Amino acid sequence: MKRILLLALLLHSACAMALDLPAAAPVPGGVAVIDLGSHAVAPRAWYAGKRVMVVGDARQWQAVVGLNLDTPLGARELRVQIAAATTTQRFAVRAKEYATQRITIKDQRKVQPLAQDLKRIRRESAEMRAAFTHWREDAPQSLQFSLPADGPFSSPFGLRRFFNDLPRRPHSGLDIAAPAGTPVRAPAAGRVVAVGDYFFNGNTVMLDHGQGLITLYCHLQRIDVKKDQWLEHGETLGSVGSTGRATGPHLHWSVSLNNARIDPALFLTADLASRNENKRGSDDTQGQSEEPSP
Ligand SMILES: [Zn+2]
Repeated sequence: MKRILLLALLLHSACAMALDLPAAAPVPGGVAVIDLGSHAVAPRAWYAGKRVMVVGDARQWQAVVGLNLDTPLGARELRVQIAAATTTQRFAVRAKEYATQRITIKDQRKVQPLAQDLKRIRRESAEMRAAFTHWREDAPQSLQFSLPADGPFSSPFGLRRFFNDLPRRPHSGLDIAAPAGTPVRAPAAGRVVAVGDYFFNGNTVMLDHGQGLITLYCHLQRIDVKKDQWLEHGETLGSVGSTGRATGPHLHWSVSLNNARIDPALFLTADLASRNENKRGSDDTQGQSEEPSP
């Protein structure tokens, strides 16, 4: 009886893991899910020189690879290490068109920063880069996220943007419009890897969910957590605000896998992902603070 229960539990968790995977979308800004076969020990995998997430169990391992918006189309290679053997596995990246958005920012300095701002911007970029490239061996507790804030999506991921008619980096996250003070909650369990008040992003929190899966929350009015703190799923990390470069209160939410910013909607259940997108011009630009263009 005990054995049957154990088997049922094992099967259940295997199914849960399979269901948990983000929506596979091998496009720039998407996720490639690559079968690595059955092996007693988890294979390790690298894409573009970076460790990538591997999930599953001895019957079926899968690499979950983040593809940034600059990913070249066509055949790409994943390096896979199984025990002592290293192999290469190919996968194809196909095209995806993202819409264009034009935004007017009143604070000209937030579009063309002054020389004195650049030093601060570079320091903050380095801090965020360190957090985005942080690797923790533990697998995430879940690959399916709840919404970090309650509200309509005001700006989708991937928009090609112009600020005051100047081309800037594409939108590297999903914006959720909500009144200032709305609680922002961890969409899955994770550790706080960075907390700061950044030039473009305003009050910012970054969470490490394990195996290179990092999430970012910007423009917060209030921050309720400290660096290295562990958050359970649903715990409050701060509240919605409009700090940094933002035209009004909203949450900018980025999801990063192997240091590639990818569409957060891929980690939501289909009904959440297809929720109303209204075209209210909320804005921010966390991409700018990662790689300032001036
Ligand atoms: Zn945004």
